[in-house]
Amino acid sequence: MEERLMNVDLTGKNVLVTGASRGIGRAIALRMAAAGARVAVHGFSNLERATAVAAAAGNGAHAFAADLADRRAPGILFDEVVSRFGRVDVLVNNAGISLEMPISMPDDKWELAWEKTMAVNVRAVEILTRRAVRHFGKIGGGRLIHIASRAAFRGDTPDYVAYAASKGAVVALSKTIARGLGKQNIMSFVIAPGWVRTDMAAEFIERHGEEQVTGTLALPRLTEPDDIAPMVVLLASGMADHATGTSIDINAGSYVR
Ligand code: NAD
Repeated sequence: MEERLMNVDLTGKNVLVTGASRGIGRAIALRMAAAGARVAVHGFSNLERATAVAAAAGNGAHAFAADLADRRAPGILFDEVVSRFGRVDVLVNNAGISLEMPISMPDDKWELAWEKTMAVNVRAVEILTRRAVRHFGKIGGGRLIHIASRAAFRGDTPDYVAYAASKGAVVALSKTIARGLGKQNIMSFVIAPGWVRTDMAAEFIERHGEEQVTGTLALPRLTEPDDIAPMVVLLASGMADHATGTSIDINAGSYVR
């Protein structure tokens, strides 16, 4: 029998990972580089941390800074990466925020939190995605991988209504790109994590205790960033292109659809 080893090789591919200075984005950047990709490590304002991730990744990785809440920043970021790397083959929309906003909040604070959530979690994703799609059209194709959330499908607690709504928007965006642009060799995927041990989850765990989170899991331990990253590498490789439009749940069995 012919032996076929599965080798996930990203040699020659350039990948932009947003929010890669820590957490899930950092794990994705390191895994991408280990598979042979050249990684554009986007960090918020803290270029020092992103630079450290780029150094750890090696393979020509480079750090870029941008505040994605700023309307113009995502487009500038994408153009900067293309001008430095020559091309981008994969965009991982990972950066995101999760703001607690109880329904009882004063109107002005509520509106600000809603707008900030939509700016980072949806508008920046939309701008980067459009830039990437236009670029992919010129280079013969590419892959989009969006880190959404279980909340898009299951819903969240009422204190996180904007967060859940923003991730639902990303899922719809991804499906639409996938359905419309596959024949142009443009694929789009969603990863929908449950709780993952990062700074984002730390505050909740600190307040409510880890048992509050692990008690809802089918598995014995909380998901780590590196439980997410290998799937993202596989999607980036092209070996899973026929799954375009899909959303992959990585939530330790806490929400099985
Ligand atoms: P994290 O807070 O550690 O990382 C978020 C990243 O986004 C950081 O690198 C941060 O700098 C970046 N970011 C936030 N606001 C930004 C802005 N205005 N401009 C530029 N960058 C900005 O959290 P994480 O858990 O690693 O989150 C990564 C993604 O995973 C997010 O989209 C998040 O919604 C999603 N997610 C996380 C969990 C979880 O439990 N941790 C669960 C489901 C989905």
